[in-house]
Amino acid sequence: MTNILWNYLLFVFQRANWLSVIDILLVATVVFLVLYLLRDTKALVLLRGVLFLIVIISLLSSLRVLPASSWLVSNTLPTLLLAIPVIFAPEIRRVLERIGRTGSILAHGQYSSEMDRIIQQVVRAARRIAERKYGGLIVFSRLDSLQAYIDTGVILKAEVTPETLIQIFYPKTPLHDGAVILANEVIAAAGCVLPLSASGVLEESPERSMGLRHRAALGIAEETDAVAVVISEETGIVSLAYEGKLDKYVPLDELQAKLAGFFLPEEDHRSLLSRLVTLFQGFVE
Ligand code: ATP
Ligand code: MG
Repeated sequence: MTNILWNYLLFVFQRANWLSVIDILLVATVVFLVLYLLRDTKALVLLRGVLFLIVIISLLSSLRVLPASSWLVSNTLPTLLLAIPVIFAPEIRRVLERIGRTGSILAHGQYSSEMDRIIQQVVRAARRIAERKYGGLIVFSRLDSLQAYIDTGVILKAEVTPETLIQIFYPKTPLHDGAVILANEVIAAAGCVLPLSASGVLEESPERSMGLRHRAALGIAEETDAVAVVISEETGIVSLAYEGKLDKYVPLDELQAKLAGFFLPEEDHRSLLSRLVTLFQGFVE
C-alpha cells in the first residue's frame, strides 16, 4: 500500500515542472486572498462547514458499493454548489465591498486629522457620562457604511462636542435610548438601534452583568468594522467593541490612545500588499 502511494507521489513529482509550481502558487494565493477577505466574517465558519460537507459528499459518492446513496449524493452536490451564492449573498456583498474599498483607500485615504479632535471630545464626554452613570453607547464608523443603522435613529448632523453627547445621554430625555453614531466627522444620529450580538461570548462570561447595551456594541462590531464605546449605566465602566470583540474595562486614560489606533493617518496609505506582508510576518512569528 505504501509502495503504491510512494510510486504515485514519485510519478506526480516527476511530471512537475516550473509551470506546475507557478500553478500551485497561484491557487494558493487565490485561496489565501479569499480567506483573508473573509476573515472576521461569519462566512468563514460557513465556508468551513461547506468544505467539510463537500469532502464528505465526494467520499460518499465514490463508494461504489452503495449505488443508490452515491446516486443521491452525486446529484445533490451540483445543487449545493448552486445554493452557495444564495446562502452567502450578504457575505459575498461584504467581500466585494471590501475589495472596492481597498481601491478607494489607496486612491484618496479615508481618515482625516479632524479625527484626533473628535476622539478627544468623545473621551471627555465618556469620562463625564461614566462619572454621572448615565450610560452611553457611541459608535465610530470607519470604512463600512452605517447608513442602515443611522436611519433607525434621529438624524442630528451635529458637531461632536462633550456637551452635546452628555445632553443626548441625559436620562429620561427622548434621545438617550439607543446608540449615537459618529460618521463623516459629525454626530450623524442618536437613538439608533444596533443589531444585538447573538454570539455566546457574553453568556460565557462569569459575571452576567452584560445586558443589551453591551450586546448591541458587540453586534455592530461583528456586523461592520465600526468601533463602539460603551459606558455602563450600572457601573460607569467603559468598554470598547471592535472587530467582533468586546474589550471590557478600558481605563479612561487609555481610551484616547486606543481609539486613535483605529484612525491612524498612516493606515490609509498602507496598501493591500503591505498588509499581506504584515499578515505573513504574523504567521511566521
Ligand atoms: P448597563 O451596564 O449600562 O446597564 P447593559 O449592557 O446592562 O448596560 P442594559 O441595562 O440592558 O444593558 O441597557 C439597556 C439600554 O441599552 C437601553 O436603555 C438602550 O439605551 C440600550 N440598548 C438596548 N438595546 C439596544 C440596541 N439594540 N441598540 C442600541 N442600544 C440599545
Ligand atoms: Mg444593565
